[in-house]
Amino acid sequence: MDIEYIFENNRQWIADKLKKDPEYFKKLSGEQSPEILYIGCSDSRVTTGDLMGIEPGDMFVHRNIANMVSNTDLSAMSVINYAVSYLKVKHVVICGHYNCGGVKAAMQSKDMGILNPWLRNIRDVYRLHKDELNAIEFEEQKYNRLVELNVQEQCVNLIKTAEVQKALLHSQITVHGWVFDIHTGHIIDMKIDFNKILKDIMEIYRLES
Ligand SMILES: [Zn+2]
Repeated sequence: MDIEYIFENNRQWIADKLKKDPEYFKKLSGEQSPEILYIGCSDSRVTTGDLMGIEPGDMFVHRNIANMVSNTDLSAMSVINYAVSYLKVKHVVICGHYNCGGVKAAMQSKDMGILNPWLRNIRDVYRLHKDELNAIEFEEQKYNRLVELNVQEQCVNLIKTAEVQKALLHSQITVHGWVFDIHTGHIIDMKIDFNKILKDIMEIYRLES
């Protein structure tokens, strides 16, 4: 890939935007007020803007390997805090995807160096849902289900944070668990029953009464 190609594309993109709206960059350089916080995988095949038709300014984004929400990850925690408490987003989306290399790597008995502690979080998801996952006969189906369960558990991790609990308590945000089906291009809403999950976990994780 010729890296110069990117600059050519950039010039073309600027021209296209200005043709449609001569004030485009004036507006874009104002304050941001995105309504969505998106937490997704770093995978190069999952391009957030393209597949959702999202324009610059619409969505605050955090991406890492296998769309994890780890409570010791200062970067993810800062993004969540800023998006929920300051930008006051209305929706938080955690979006996984089938064929996730991070999820696959976590299922292999292999020393992956610095990736070990990161992937261990996914192994923990497997342990939590071991009975269901072990009962799945086909390997690919097992991976796919783990991708879905990982999204669900990362939504739970999100709900463990004080700012998200506060916003949920005041009905300021909605949490969504999605999976991008890389085979068809569809985004699947997992329709996670957060009321049920909240009821189960809040006894332990509640930070406010
Ligand atoms: Zn991935």
